[in-house]
Amino acid sequence: MDKVAFIGLGAMGYPMAAHLARRFPTLVWNRTFQKALKHQEAFGSRAVPLEEVAEAGVIFTCLPTTKEVAQVAERLLPHLRPGTHWVDATSGDPEESRRLAQRLREKGVVYLDAPVSGGTAGAEKGTLTVMLGGPEEAVERVRPYLAYAKKVVHVGPVGAGHAVKAINNALLAVNLWAAGEGLVALVAQGVSAERALEVINASSGRSNATENLIPERVLTRAFPKTFALGLLVKDLGIAMRVLEGEKAPSPLLRLTREVYEMAKRELGPEADHVEALKLLERWANAEIR
Ligand code: NDP
Repeated sequence: MDKVAFIGLGAMGYPMAAHLARRFPTLVWNRTFQKALKHQEAFGSRAVPLEEVAEAGVIFTCLPTTKEVAQVAERLLPHLRPGTHWVDATSGDPEESRRLAQRLREKGVVYLDAPVSGGTAGAEKGTLTVMLGGPEEAVERVRPYLAYAKKVVHVGPVGAGHAVKAINNALLAVNLWAAGEGLVALVAQGVSAERALEVINASSGRSNATENLIPERVLTRAFPKTFALGLLVKDLGIAMRVLEGEKAPSPLLRLTREVYEMAKRELGPEADHVEALKLLERWANAEIR
């Protein structure tokens, strides 16, 4: 098995890289280098300067956007070796990553977009879903290394993984907000949110928002910070570019993006995505309980 490397030890990357380190010799790099040293200490990975990442046969990235991935790629470019595979777990932009793939191809490096779903809990458990965009033979080459995944789906050429991820997250945003609107109204009528969810989750209106996010994070008032609101708004922007690129009708997703932009302005990009419902609660002067 090749040596692997992981760049970006954030909320997702840190536990994802831990799964790699348990199975493969793993190099890690992070902008805030202490996190790389902490990872080395905890999981036996090796914290290295960025250039040394190029020693790995498979390089993983999990950064906020494709912009940061492209910046890191430019810094690494002089050191990269032909035949290296680059697995980008960032929820990125399809068009920008096609350009990045072209740039890396000049050095003989094969880029695959490989965003993930399943959240920080899935990253810790190693049960993420990976949606891969890239050539078939590259997908087969990297498949054995996806140690943090439970499900791996090859969805199309480069960019297709990012497009699927953006649409998935747009659906998360719709479901969460819509459930919030409905529950605020029910609470105002005197129905407890818990009882309402007991019905909805045994009925056709259920979603991950009603089954997991709202009971675990809103009803408890815990609102843990696992996935930043700013990142979800970024995903909604990508989803809109996918829809607009295809001239696809998008009245609902356009509106959804607007309400989350508003929530981001009101609550700040560092708020958790589920905290968007706090905005609804403010408007209604009621808590979802
Ligand atoms: P975090 O903000 O927790 O981590 C971001 C990581 O990127 C950190 O390691 C950070 O380094 C690094 N970074 C930021 N800017 C730069 C830069 N300019 N140069 C180099 N490194 C940089 O984000 P997440 O882990 O939550 O998200 C990462 C990606 O995964 C995003 O695309 C997100 O949309 C996606 N995602 C997130 C999920 C979640 O539940 N959180 C679920 C599924 C996908 P530093 O430590 O120095 O700040």
